[in-house]
Amino acid sequence: MPARTNYGIDFDKQSISDTDVRGKKILLRCDFNIPLDRDTGAVTDDGRIIAALPTIRYLLDQGAAVIACSHLGRPGGVLSPEFSLKVVGERLTELLGKPVKISRDAIGEDSRRLAASLQPGEIMLLENLRFYPGEELNDPEFARALAALADVFVEDAFGSVHRAHASIEGVSHFLPAVAGFLLEQELRHIGGALENPKPPFIAILGGSKVSDKIGVIDNLLDKADTLIIGGGMAYTFLKARDGSIGSSLCENDRLQYARDMLVKAQRLGVRLLLPVDSLVAQRPDNSLNPDVVNSYNIPDDMMALDIGPKAANEFVSVIKDAGTVIWNGPMGIFELPKYSNGTRMVAIAMTDPHIVSIVGGGDSAAAIRQFGLEGRVTHVSTGGGATLEFLEGRELPGVACLLDKPGRAEV
Ligand code: AMP
Repeated sequence: MPARTNYGIDFDKQSISDTDVRGKKILLRCDFNIPLDRDTGAVTDDGRIIAALPTIRYLLDQGAAVIACSHLGRPGGVLSPEFSLKVVGERLTELLGKPVKISRDAIGEDSRRLAASLQPGEIMLLENLRFYPGEELNDPEFARALAALADVFVEDAFGSVHRAHASIEGVSHFLPAVAGFLLEQELRHIGGALENPKPPFIAILGGSKVSDKIGVIDNLLDKADTLIIGGGMAYTFLKARDGSIGSSLCENDRLQYARDMLVKAQRLGVRLLLPVDSLVAQRPDNSLNPDVVNSYNIPDDMMALDIGPKAANEFVSVIKDAGTVIWNGPMGIFELPKYSNGTRMVAIAMTDPHIVSIVGGGDSAAAIRQFGLEGRVTHVSTGGGATLEFLEGRELPGVACLLDKPGRAEV
């Protein structure tokens, strides 16, 4: 059986620093799946493009020719102009300060022609990989056609490595495959925190759905000293503890799971904190004046929209005493200013310089950016689903397929 990948500080896969890329054509898988303005189609958040720049610049400086590729949105295997990567290519051109040649296809005549004439130090971008059904089906022929454009495959799309798609896993059967700097950095930060955290290790989970984070809760209970659960998902746990939660979010089919996790926490001696109080209103409306109530006693016609001030203070004091904190999911409907306080207080507490602070992707990363705190935590992940699957302790197909470092033991 192949050895399981070591993530974290003992990351045992080859990276671009181990590879001679000079004069080579590099197929570089990025995650340029970024939000676009619904009306104008303009890029609204270029965080993932910026995160890809160190690898791109390094490869170009080393004299490689870079063939970047990505998916964008869910075009479902058909050519859909609204999901074109052209806007991404234009933004990348601005950020790099050098032209990015944009091909009209990913495996057709245009990309073959552009790739063949690409010179060392030049970069091109393939059109959206998901315009082809073979991408998500991990079709070997599609992967072979992509691989035929290049000499080496560099995997840098951390946000996509949980998917065994053709440009993520399939191409590794046809080209030497190594990690880029972003992927390596994500794995070292998140993997390092999971495998060897500076204690005490605190995990904070929030957001709306328990069902999305079942595997994460289960895995983190085996590792964390304290697990804090806030946001909409906390109310399933509060109901499992016989609380009256009014019309707050609740996944009734997950109540037994929540009870099992409460028992597991007790058995393992892990402190599991739920919000003692909540900010409630009749509906998620920024014009209403919310009340603060005990989370176990929410009136029938009220729903919890944020953690309350006592809960926020308690969570903050736990974070302040932490060695390592991993946070994934907002504490309330932070998009509405009246219900953003709990998320803001947690975000600010994460910036304590004594803490190794890791912000999981998706909404918690958006929150950190919204509060202008991005540069003040140890690491903000570019992954959403990938971060969650990593936190679940699952093998990531886009990492497992990379070349091992020499001397890695088989078990
Ligand atoms: P998720 O996708 O599961 O990480 O959930 C993120 C979403 O959860 C955000 O858009 C928040 O607005 C929402 N959210 C957080 N707390 C609550 C709550 N108490 N009630 C309803 N939605 C919430």
